[in-house]
Amino acid sequence: MANLEYRYGPMNSGKSMAILQMAYNYEENDKKVILVKSITDTKGGDYLVSRIGPKRKIQIKLNKNESLLDDKYVGMIEDKDAILVDEAQFLTSKQVEDLWFIAKNKDIPVICFGLKTNFKSEFFEGSKRLFELSDKFKELETICKCGTKARFNARKVNGNFILEGKENIIDGENDNVQYVPLCGKCYLNKVFMKENK
Ligand SMILES: [Zn+2]
Repeated sequence: MANLEYRYGPMNSGKSMAILQMAYNYEENDKKVILVKSITDTKGGDYLVSRIGPKRKIQIKLNKNESLLDDKYVGMIEDKDAILVDEAQFLTSKQVEDLWFIAKNKDIPVICFGLKTNFKSEFFEGSKRLFELSDKFKELETICKCGTKARFNARKVNGNFILEGKENIIDGENDNVQYVPLCGKCYLNKVFMKENK
């Protein structure tokens, strides 16, 4: 029986690099992987791009109303040794449940990568269901400016931390929006308590 796994961490915790490395490792051992992401994340277009260079084509970009169990995709996943999902926080609950089905009933390991919480420190739909259903977890790490481990994603608009706004604004598409990984203490005091620095 295969596992559903969630590897989560804040922005800049090396998730893209970790997926590229995992895909490489499978293929080095003559295993086949397929790379999937939610179409909600528009960054990189058809590619998974890491900040430090390497990139790789994404084979399936899922719309909100699509599933890997749909006829058009099921043939693409059945011969694979693993399914790697990027930006998994953007999946719907149903899409996560379908990944669970694939791991348990089709016996294909599914490894999801993504954020735990949004800029308001609340679960995304996809990350909530992944925390509820996954067999295994791994927290990916990055460091806050103060030197402590970062666990939160703060949104900065025009240089100020904010707690209002739509959940999904992709940085890079909007010049005014930036995401900053923060530790609990910095997030609480600089963002949650609305002490804009
Ligand atoms: Zn800090």
